[in-house]
Amino acid sequence: MLDRIPLAGAGPSLAYEHADAETLDELHDDAQACQRCDLYRSATHLVFGEGPSAADIVLVGEQPGDEEDLAARPFVGPAGRLLDQCLEEAGVDRDRCYVTNAVKHFKYQMRGKKRLHARPNAGEVQRCAWWLGAELELLKPKLVVALGATAVSSLLGSKVKVMRDRGRILHPPGKLDVLVTIHPSAFLRIREPAEKEKNRIAFVGDLRRIQRFLRH
Ligand code: SF4
Repeated sequence: MLDRIPLAGAGPSLAYEHADAETLDELHDDAQACQRCDLYRSATHLVFGEGPSAADIVLVGEQPGDEEDLAARPFVGPAGRLLDQCLEEAGVDRDRCYVTNAVKHFKYQMRGKKRLHARPNAGEVQRCAWWLGAELELLKPKLVVALGATAVSSLLGSKVKVMRDRGRILHPPGKLDVLVTIHPSAFLRIREPAEKEKNRIAFVGDLRRIQRFLRH
């Protein structure tokens, strides 16, 4: 059975004009100068998406973390490594995946000398959706995977809830199909091993839907 659920009434928030860039490299270059919100001021680097331009699958996280900000690459920190392991376990070929974030600059607060993750606000997510929309416009993947609440909000609007809708593939009218799931950082922080494993298995279960969907 094709797991495709119409998404009535939840307008995606990706309202963007078409970007001038004709390739992802050009788009990445253009984004280096972005000042659409204030997050560029305190981040070290812009962290743009990464992966093959012919990717079937685009995975969208929240924002770069500390390691990603320093490396200027998405999903190279602990959550990214966990995502790679879970994709492999779910039988998803990582070479078919492009990874990016809803917000391209690291937002943080200082605690002593540490930079602690701070959640981007709705305005920052909405402004940065222009870049995510432009990436998707160029990539035209078969499926987008929204990892966590920020990605879900950017891609699908506020009516979709991660914990209620996770594991579903939603079909916003005129837009790309989107699989809803959690962000791997959500269970990375769980200390209790059995609970952590339970969450990891559920996440892998969500990711297995990618292969089933692409086979149809
Ligand atoms: S977070 Fe996004 S919108 Fe804000 S400055 Fe960075 S690239 Fe631009």
